[in-house]
Amino acid sequence: MMKKNDLCEIIIEDMGKDGEGIGHVDGMTVFVKDTVVGDRAKVKLMKVKKNMAFARLMEILEPSGCRVTPVCENARACGGCTLQHISYEKQLELLQNHVKNCLMRIGEVREAETLMEPILGMGDPFHFRNKMQFPVGLDREGKPALGFYAGHTHSLVPLTDCPAGHPVNRELLRAVREYLAEAEVPVYNEEEHKGLVRHVLTRVGFFTGQVMVCMVINGNRLPEPELLVRKMKEAVEVRNDTPDKAVNESGSGNGALQKPVLASVAISINRERTNRILGDRSIILYGKPYIEDRIGDITFRIAPESFYQVNPVQTEKLYGKALEYAGLTGMETVWDMYCGIGTISLFLAKQAKQVYGVEIVPQAIENAKENAGINQIENAEFFVGKAEEVVPSLYAEEPDRYRADVVVVDPPRKGCDPALLATIAAMRPDRLVYVSCDPATLARDIAILTKDGFELKKIATVDMFPHSMHVETVALLTRGG
Ligand code: SAH
Repeated sequence: MMKKNDLCEIIIEDMGKDGEGIGHVDGMTVFVKDTVVGDRAKVKLMKVKKNMAFARLMEILEPSGCRVTPVCENARACGGCTLQHISYEKQLELLQNHVKNCLMRIGEVREAETLMEPILGMGDPFHFRNKMQFPVGLDREGKPALGFYAGHTHSLVPLTDCPAGHPVNRELLRAVREYLAEAEVPVYNEEEHKGLVRHVLTRVGFFTGQVMVCMVINGNRLPEPELLVRKMKEAVEVRNDTPDKAVNESGSGNGALQKPVLASVAISINRERTNRILGDRSIILYGKPYIEDRIGDITFRIAPESFYQVNPVQTEKLYGKALEYAGLTGMETVWDMYCGIGTISLFLAKQAKQVYGVEIVPQAIENAKENAGINQIENAEFFVGKAEEVVPSLYAEEPDRYRADVVVVDPPRKGCDPALLATIAAMRPDRLVYVSCDPATLARDIAILTKDGFELKKIATVDMFPHSMHVETVALLTRGG
């Protein structure tokens, strides 16, 4: 009988849904993080149950043909990139399989394979993220540090750069560290709920270069705000003086990265004991209360609290698919549910008669209205509130006005509320475009919608989050018969 702490040799035969390798020892199924199918490895059993065990990779004895050397030295410790040791081609195959398995097992879609389009991956899967959220803490020497949480924990691993993010982050990280030390700002301690600075959020408009830095604090004010602003300005200048292949060069796989400019420095007040990063309210220290970015020829204003897709290059591909699936001719009334700052709504508005958007975050709806204005779009109307409350009540009050030819939904990971799905079924749209960041809840909702008379026609997978098992999908459902 194998037991905890035993060392054994294993061949990885398959991959699990979180990207972990799976093999067998002694008739037991063993899950090993950081391995890939084809690896022969020495592993240590960490947790042994009746028929299965979880093991830690100790040594690769013979590497899989799909194994590559991670670009980032923190790849194994970091909870962000779980697949960096796997070739990008293989990563795309894993994502596509994961979506297919969800559709077949949870959605009971038998013909999943034929409905799936080829996955849309990136040309160069680095420097793709426009938003980073760094927890703040102390390093081993007790100095202020920014970094990431080791996978499934809240222990801070200090970081000086992240190859997933925009290259300006390296300079911003350094400058925030300097500011914290020089102004002697206490960092937040989660256990004691004491100290001030909890997280630093950075956002960069990839197509405008506009940079936002938002300090999340357990308090109402930050000491020496002018020092912080000066440091941030200097950081952006240093970035622009650094020759680097990844920036200031158009047409590379990570898009046309523009020269960064500091557009906004803010604080977000979060005094709660919570895992939520941002507070409800932000105060501007410098610049504007938003940054701007572009998708296609539409400009968007984005406040710190607003959701905005994190991978600008892939977002264009995703919204392109959503537009294609919507099949607009200019005559349609379109509902965009879970609309955020109106990105999909405004992307579709030019080719529709009327667009309605609904979203729960008030700042996002303010952004959506401004965004319609700055892009001279007059056929879009936005509502604040829960989609599952706003849409049923508007539709009950004025079914002719709030009808839909096309419905787009883009819910958070938990998927659509059943009350909303029931109203969508009652609205009988010709087309339903379901954008999803979790194939399991997408598949669950497809099963419900199928019972309500919809038929799944096509589904596209977009790799929005390279080196992780998170994946974005867009599905087209039409009314059968
Ligand atoms: N379509 C947008 C946003 C998608 S993210 C885009 O592509 O940018 C999902 C959005 O749903 C978030 O903005 C979140 O704030 C919002 N949301 C979460 N729960 C909601 C609910 N019950 N009703 C309406 N919006 C909700």
